[in-house]
Amino acid sequence: MPTFVYMTRCDGCGQCVDICPSDIMHMDSVVRRAYNIEPNMCWECYSCVKACPHNAIDVRGYADFAPLGHSVRVQRDEEKGVIAWRIIFRNGEKDMTLLAPITTKPWGQAIPQLADESEPSQEMRDSQHLFNEPKYIRLDDGGLHTLESNGLKLKAGVYY
Ligand code: SF4
Ligand code: SF4
Repeated sequence: MPTFVYMTRCDGCGQCVDICPSDIMHMDSVVRRAYNIEPNMCWECYSCVKACPHNAIDVRGYADFAPLGHSVRVQRDEEKGVIAWRIIFRNGEKDMTLLAPITTKPWGQAIPQLADESEPSQEMRDSQHLFNEPKYIRLDDGGLHTLESNGLKLKAGVYY
């Protein structure tokens, strides 16, 4: 799901530009707002989404799983240290809010939990999972975590 920027929320801080591994988040030289110059080349790493301090970056779902009318909203909450993805299908039947941790570590410093990890074993390297993926998305302690199962609520956000 490639990203796009809500111009009204972006303040041109450039954090998404700095972090994008594909170098496709650029700053419009006239309006000084960020935009994804080549959505087809987006790795969908969502580093920019997590880095944006203004929740200005959102994602567009692919038509095969989120046909016309779906909504994918991203909310970043630094106080709680989570980023929440709210997905609503167009018929309203599915309304899921999925949580992922974000880091508030200052730029240029390692995320402590990752820095403390030992080197991945050969089994981990051969696995289809990313390094420590089940652990960090917390699949190993009872399945997907949602706002409700964590006793959290979304802060009021701006909807478009
Ligand atoms: S999701 Fe990743 S690759 Fe795509 S624009 Fe954002 S930082 Fe760049
Ligand atoms: S990180 Fe967010 S606010 Fe900053 S330039 Fe990118 S989209 Fe705009």
